[in-house]
Amino acid sequence: METSKLQKSLQKLNIQDVNKGTSTGSKSFGNGELIASYSPVDGKLIGKVISTTKQDYEKVIESAQKAFTTWRLVPAPQRGEIVRQFGDKLRELKQPLGELVSYEMGKSLQEGLGEVQEMIDICDFAVGLSRQLHGLTMHSERPGHRMYEQYHSLGIVGIISAFNFPVAVWSWNTALAWICGDVCVWKASEKAPLCSIACQHIIANILKENNLPEGISCIVNGDYKVGEFMTTDKRIPLISATGSIKMGKIVAKTVAERLGRSLLELGGNNAIIITPNADLKISIIGAVFGAVGTAGQRCTSTRRLIIHESMYEQVKNTLVDAYKQLRIGNPLDEKNHVGPLIDKDAVKMYENALKKVVEEGGNLLVEGGVLKGEGYESGCYVKPAIAEAKNAFEIVQHETFAPILYLIKYSGEVENAIEIQNGVVQGLSSAIMTTNLREAEKFLSVAGSDCGIANVNIGTSGAEIGGAFGGEKETGGGRESGSDAWKIYMRRQTNTINYTSNLPLAQGIKFDL
Ligand code: NAD
Repeated sequence: METSKLQKSLQKLNIQDVNKGTSTGSKSFGNGELIASYSPVDGKLIGKVISTTKQDYEKVIESAQKAFTTWRLVPAPQRGEIVRQFGDKLRELKQPLGELVSYEMGKSLQEGLGEVQEMIDICDFAVGLSRQLHGLTMHSERPGHRMYEQYHSLGIVGIISAFNFPVAVWSWNTALAWICGDVCVWKASEKAPLCSIACQHIIANILKENNLPEGISCIVNGDYKVGEFMTTDKRIPLISATGSIKMGKIVAKTVAERLGRSLLELGGNNAIIITPNADLKISIIGAVFGAVGTAGQRCTSTRRLIIHESMYEQVKNTLVDAYKQLRIGNPLDEKNHVGPLIDKDAVKMYENALKKVVEEGGNLLVEGGVLKGEGYESGCYVKPAIAEAKNAFEIVQHETFAPILYLIKYSGEVENAIEIQNGVVQGLSSAIMTTNLREAEKFLSVAGSDCGIANVNIGTSGAEIGGAFGGEKETGGGRESGSDAWKIYMRRQTNTINYTSNLPLAQGIKFDL
């Protein structure tokens, strides 16, 4: 993509001028240090944002609290109407926002546009949901009594997000939180801060046009220290945090100390099982896309391939051939399959992992390496690698956020493969490639995959909005997006109404005066 075209797109998002600050609605302010955002695509400075000081933070929370008292009284379908307008605006701005995601984060343009599409999809989902948000009614044991439950708005939702989905994760949370009557304060990743400024501009204009309080959507900028303002803050009943397991363990403890609620979406160590009954063609496409898409920087990226010994050589050779076709380069150029890693620290982690797997006895089938020269000036482009490994290797047990795929052999029945697949601390996404009904059903059964996502004949990445998204074990147990994930954004109340002139007590207790 030409630079001038990209600049025009950035202008459309109004993020051209540097030094954007903390924001409540459309007001931008801030007194903290500047955070520079460099593109991993070409190493150039895109812009700077002002980090949020404690004083700035207090202003934001005040504004959010004030907005909540109004917003919770707006009927849910009318809140849905605001989310509908937001979704429409995203449709209009899909191309420039997708380009910004691709340029600031480094994923391919197709994936950047896909991320904005996810935002649009969750808005549509939330609009429909705004006419539901239903509780149950139940029969009371007492005569002349009615019992039911209802869901009320919770308050401020604090959103802490990771760099790799710099816009979608926010919208998965906000679209639902807004229709639930909550207000949101977002701390985006310090590695992709301009994406959050662009999103804030879009929603702030919609709130203004509708004469709604600006504090319904707020952003704060900065690193983990700004995140800690939120996790320690009793005024925020729900913290939704997406990121590494290391971060999640700290956030969970901090929020639990004040008995707050947390929704955790943490790291994965996702595997595809390839059984003797697999369709090889779709298995290879699923594995390659899962391993190298977004340069291996998806929480659902395929990290491990667990292959039956009878298929092992064939799968291995086909994969090695497939990797030779991969084009690595500028992600805004649609001819390329693999873009850069987010920064040079990520490159170091990738190099360390490759060193470590060899030290532990692994065998590199496709050697990696950092690319240098024209087009690779940012120093963030690496070659996708494949290593033969054992599940017990320490490095295999760990999520390396880079395009490294480990091949693991299994023998005997599918149960053996499932045991390997479950033999990690993470529990996000999993898949089996098989045309055998018994194998597929075993994998999906209670004794099968222990992950939050379990797929048959598709890869580990690329979840749809309609289902609840999240994982078990050290992935954190949170669920976002579809199904009934909205319930965490509301508080549940059970109501019992007596429409008689008597006061019968529950459990048959007598209390006569
Ligand atoms: P990270 O943990 O380094 O940072 C994530 C966010 O947490 C950032 O905004 C950061 O500033 C903040 N943070 C860090 N420490 C904090 C603390 N102590 N208190 C408050 N906030 C804190 O993660 P990253 O490198 O940006 O993202 C990659 C990780 O995110 C991977 O592990 C990936 O699997 C995971 N991820 C998970 C999902 C999911 O849905 N399960 C989705 C995307 C990414």
